[in-house]
Amino acid sequence: MPDQNERPTGAHEQSSDERRFLLRVTPTPSGCWEWDGGRYPTGYGRFRFRGSAGYAHRAAWTMFVGEIPSGLFVCHHCDNPPCCNPAHLFLGTPMENTQDAIRKGRWQPRPAAPPYVRPPGPRRYTNDAQRADILARVCRGETQVSVARDYSLHITTIYKIVRAARDSRGAGHA
Ligand SMILES: [Zn+2]
Repeated sequence: MPDQNERPTGAHEQSSDERRFLLRVTPTPSGCWEWDGGRYPTGYGRFRFRGSAGYAHRAAWTMFVGEIPSGLFVCHHCDNPPCCNPAHLFLGTPMENTQDAIRKGRWQPRPAAPPYVRPPGPRRYTNDAQRADILARVCRGETQVSVARDYSLHITTIYKIVRAARDSRGAGHA
């Protein structure tokens, strides 16, 4: 059976993209078209469209609504990143896209850090230098939550370090 997907003629390639696309979306009761294919870490669908990989919802807009004007984003009304229902999408400027993301709590100014995994073995939260730095930052008024985030430590770990320092205060720990 010849591989129709490899045929390089534009019109045929596009209809093949459409078929592959429709096989990967599942309509849900909410009306969203849930993307079943590969996803980006942000939850957006990943789809090979016109020969290169990109966002599935952008491909959906192009196939079912029209070309995306240069510089515009395809945003979600439904706040569901894997959704590819064109009726749930709208075009926005970079500014609108950012405001939309902030409003939905999805603003990520930089890629998310990999999850912190505690090394195996007995619990050893931090070394002396890190504890000193943690204490100094808390003393300067930085919130324990913010320090915990920087060190990928649980808030209770920071709390214990601060409490231990208070407990040992006056015990000659210059
Ligand atoms: Zn949706």
